[in-house]
Amino acid sequence: MRQFTSVVLGAGGVGKSALTVRWVRAVFLDHYDPTIEDAYRRQVKIDNEFTSIHTAIFLTIQTAPQLEVTDTAGAEQFTALNEFYIRSAQGFVLVFSLTQEASLREVESLRQQIYRVKGTTVPIVVVGTKSDLTAEREVHRSHIQQLSQNWGLPFYETSAKRNWHVDEVFEDLVRQMRAQ
Ligand code: GDP
Ligand code: MG
Repeated sequence: MRQFTSVVLGAGGVGKSALTVRWVRAVFLDHYDPTIEDAYRRQVKIDNEFTSIHTAIFLTIQTAPQLEVTDTAGAEQFTALNEFYIRSAQGFVLVFSLTQEASLREVESLRQQIYRVKGTTVPIVVVGTKSDLTAEREVHRSHIQQLSQNWGLPFYETSAKRNWHVDEVFEDLVRQMRAQ
């Protein structure tokens, strides 16, 4: 069985843990645990082929302006950690919250970091979370469609709470990683 390592990245609180745990464990995490990292493994049959995915997660990346950096060593540490995760993975899920415009800018910066380390043909899926929170939505679909075209990357709007489009995210990533 082929095995892949993927990494889920995005700003704190956007729903990285909830998305991944929904997919791996089929439950919704409704509490917020600001974990730095965690990891899961799932075996899944996609297109009639079993694959094992190790999803190393939840590096809560915080670049300016969310993080008030007073300690340069701390900031460098974060960057080194990012680079370590990026290097070790074959595929990436970049997560932002549809209810938080700023988290989408974080994804733009992550995308550039990944391209710098892995080159531009690396498997990536971009995910806007919390699509069930329609009243709090800040990111319009037209904006997403435009970015998706400009970046040449697949975008999904998901809800870990309602289990909307969660499988599609990981299936897309697995297909991209298999094709590498
Ligand atoms: P992380 O820091 O990116 O890992 O964020 P979490 O996965 O811990 O999610 C942060 C908060 O948002 C938690 O309280 C989750 O229950 C909530 N959350 C995550 N995904 C969704 C979603 O799809 N819908 C709703 N309504 N809440 C969500
Ligand atoms: Mg988390």
